[in-house]
Amino acid sequence: MKKTVAIVGRPNVGKSTLFNRLVGERISIVEDTPGVTRDRIFADVSWLNYSFTLIDTGGIETDTDNLIPEMMRKQAQIAIDMADVIMFVVDGKAGLVPQDFEVADLLRKSKKPVIVIVNKVDNSRLPDDYYDFYQLGFDNMYAISSTQGLGLGDMLDEIVALFPKEELLEVEDNSIKVAIIGKPNAGKSSILNALIGEERTIVSPIAGTTRDAIDEKCNINGIDYTFIDTAGIRKKNKIYDNIEKYSVLRAYSAIEKADVVLVVIDATTMVTEQDTKIAGLAHEAGKCVIVVVNKWDLIQKETNTMRDYTSDVRNSLAYMQYAPVEFISAKTGKRLNNIVELINKVYESGRKRLSTGVLNDVIGDAVMLNQPPSDKGKRLKIYYATQTGVLPPTFVIFINDKELFHFSYQRYLENKIRESFGFDGTVIKIIPREKG
Ligand code: GDP
Ligand code: GDP
Repeated sequence: MKKTVAIVGRPNVGKSTLFNRLVGERISIVEDTPGVTRDRIFADVSWLNYSFTLIDTGGIETDTDNLIPEMMRKQAQIAIDMADVIMFVVDGKAGLVPQDFEVADLLRKSKKPVIVIVNKVDNSRLPDDYYDFYQLGFDNMYAISSTQGLGLGDMLDEIVALFPKEELLEVEDNSIKVAIIGKPNAGKSSILNALIGEERTIVSPIAGTTRDAIDEKCNINGIDYTFIDTAGIRKKNKIYDNIEKYSVLRAYSAIEKADVVLVVIDATTMVTEQDTKIAGLAHEAGKCVIVVVNKWDLIQKETNTMRDYTSDVRNSLAYMQYAPVEFISAKTGKRLNNIVELINKVYESGRKRLSTGVLNDVIGDAVMLNQPPSDKGKRLKIYYATQTGVLPPTFVIFINDKELFHFSYQRYLENKIRESFGFDGTVIKIIPREKG
């Protein structure tokens, strides 16, 4: 299970500098998803054998930005809610200031491991008042320089060492993990209730997690499901709901853990910019996706209404043509049963494995039907393909020259694979590899 690390501290101590330093070029944008502006408040960082999500809470704008103490309190609370380890950054140049104590008091109340990062120590000499920072009451302290890149390795070693240990004998969990995401008021908790009911749920925090997220398990028609972060869905929190980046962040951490993502769109507002952003995260994570247009009972319907709405969704979420779109009402229960069937179906797509023989037959036919492109007298040659993974289905295609394997031809092959084998509701990843 992927861990989360949050950076907190008063303004100007260097939180975002440190974030950028750690994330750096490591953000690999696999595919440019149109309409998805990158929120640089969270990203993945790899260190040794670990990979964790890093959050810069300083980048989360709150509705109280002009009141610094209140802003710091909210940012610290978000860190406490979400993180496995908290990086508490202070300014080694400025020394200890009263605001640092305010942050420290908040963090101490949480039971999360905290490490104090004394930033802006730009050379090997510790500042004279370095040891004052122990007054904050935390044992773990590291001197670093975000701008010079000093001390980061030792600090990262300590962070990963502080990750909570997974329970050794974790029961094998074969349930389908489902995340329900969407903007506030789209109807996520209504859908969750309608799907699994209020009474039937067994609340069971997954072993090894220390954060507030609660996952709920249930069994529908003989199949086990785990709904991710139901606490985040059910808990109504006006303050956080209004912080858009927080909603996006919460969705991101739920998506990470999910196999299938329900992207809930409010039919009365249709696809908004925030929806595009959130749906884009599910796409980029390569998860199985279903677009659920909720509150369909509120829409005045004529002959072509559903068709028009579908094309609106298709246009706004152009990068996920593969995702089924379903129109439901959590209130009346209309077509809700279809959702469960769709979850099963897209999950099956995502886990489908093709034999190399069958796959190469289809690719061979496709190549015959539509000759690969050539450039400056050199033609793309496709030797053979093999499926290397599932969730999402991943195909390595061996070719002569990557330069010649244009996106449009990749798309063509993808479509041929889809025509022959389905793969509804899932991304297909194609990895070209040159064969010498
Ligand atoms: P934030 O408000 O905590 O996110 O702080 P910023 O990352 O915006 O940094 C505030 C200021 O401190 C900027 O001018 C940075 O260039 C500077 N700064 C950040 N890290 C270091 C460092 O390691 N050494 C020095 N000398 N300056 C730093
Ligand atoms: P969440 O913030 O995404 O979890 O949204 P909620 O499930 O709390 O729903 C927000 C509001 O929309 C509530 O007042 C619900 O009663 C209402 N609502 C949810 N689903 C439907 C629906 O299908 N039809 C109608 N008419 N109202 C709905």
